[in-house]
Amino acid sequence: MDETGAVGAAPAVRVTVGAAEPTGREVLAAAQEAAATARIAAVGSTGVTELEPLVLATADGRTALHANATPVAARAIATELADGGLPTDGALAVVEHDPGTTELPIPAETPLAIGRRQVLAGAGWTAPASVADHRTVTADGETTRERAGALRGRGRGDASVDRPVREDWETAREAAGEPVVVVNGNEADPAAEMDHTLLASVPLTVLDGALAVARAVGADDVIVYLAEDDGLARKRVTAARDALAADRDAAADVEIVAGPADYRAGEPTMALEAMEGADRIEARRRPPGPATYGLYGRPTVVHTPRTVAQVHGALAGPRELDPDAADPGTRLVTVGGDVTAPATVELPTDASLSRALDAVSFEGMRFACVGGQFGGLTRDLDVLASAPALRGADLGTNGVLEVFGTDACAVATAGHRAAFARGENCGRCVPCREGSVQLTDLLREVYDGTYADGKLRELTRVMRESSLCAFGRDAARTVATAMDEFEAEFLAHANGHCPTGACEEVDG
Ligand code: SF4
Repeated sequence: MDETGAVGAAPAVRVTVGAAEPTGREVLAAAQEAAATARIAAVGSTGVTELEPLVLATADGRTALHANATPVAARAIATELADGGLPTDGALAVVEHDPGTTELPIPAETPLAIGRRQVLAGAGWTAPASVADHRTVTADGETTRERAGALRGRGRGDASVDRPVREDWETAREAAGEPVVVVNGNEADPAAEMDHTLLASVPLTVLDGALAVARAVGADDVIVYLAEDDGLARKRVTAARDALAADRDAAADVEIVAGPADYRAGEPTMALEAMEGADRIEARRRPPGPATYGLYGRPTVVHTPRTVAQVHGALAGPRELDPDAADPGTRLVTVGGDVTAPATVELPTDASLSRALDAVSFEGMRFACVGGQFGGLTRDLDVLASAPALRGADLGTNGVLEVFGTDACAVATAGHRAAFARGENCGRCVPCREGSVQLTDLLREVYDGTYADGKLRELTRVMRESSLCAFGRDAARTVATAMDEFEAEFLAHANGHCPTGACEEVDG
């Protein structure tokens, strides 16, 4: 990875190398071959993969953005720029901006303009491992606790999920032992690109945020935990870590470790088990939570990259967090499913979740699953993107919005998610282990003509109330919300008919 900064360089060509690999690398190589006099920089994905590889040509405070660039196009763009012109032919947009801006110039009326890019501000613009491009935060622990403590943890891999982070920070500070900060970036759900986008595009934002948390809790070390198959994130986080260490005395060690690319290994306590090298990864009983007794028994604050990036944003941003906000900061959402290409966007928490749909192309939506693998099914996305609002609507808060097209079947979707829970749970507690088997069996019986709605509802209630960890508590949500929204469809299946024709075993 190129550690030389891109900010302020002109003429400059930036190429997104991330989501569209290896194409992005080929486009980058073509630009490098063509122009010796322009700065050519690899930058991370913007999150909007439909536009990538994206080539950004900059001169004199103007940037031309070229979407879906080929090596041939990149060569022409770099050549024209090196010859003193700004290549605007065929550009998606041309944006005027401050020549020294550290933020991606946003063209209006494009998917890049959806929401408010704060933690993603540098994604697609700054060189990921360049400290010179990065807005460093150096706030002390007390300032960090004051300015960022009201943030709620983001994502299923965060031990403070949906709660103010200050609660676990205080617990870790007061607990016996030496505190440690874990950045849990092992999100193996392929539909969830939020953490990967941060780690691969703005790793210094993640690391700087994590170091601020370390100061807030008095920790001397930070461990970044990644899925073993996430090579791009590991490479860029490692380069960013090394660049940060060379630039300044960060006062805390940063270690990078890999764990199994399994969905369950992203659950906070199973992440700790994986990091300790346990043969069999199971969730831990709580209390005590990780903030009291975590990694090797140490007080451990476990946050996702999304959460620590918000900490960075709270410290680097011009504004204080709104103390009256139900969910201060912004939320990252990956929109995927039946779309042309997924997009990861950043929404203010007082914006409607439906806004995220404008970042992707799709042909029609029958329903959506909100919250990831065990999200809630809904036809109504007019709900705020805040954790309290999403929970209030019985939707998940893991930042994934999957679009299901007009021929999708809600009963089949619920069945697939129940089967996933049955196959992937860790087996430690009965409500989840046996409940997911029964859930799958009862859904199978719908296809055989029996819709035991009372049994299904009772089972989802027991799983939600009695499971040991969030895996089991959330696993019943897809089924429960499918029954709420699509009762008639369950009855139709029991009568031998799938209304969308998706289930051949019913109609065939
Ligand atoms: S809820 Fe599921 S994943 Fe969690 S401890 Fe119980 S069996 Fe394991």
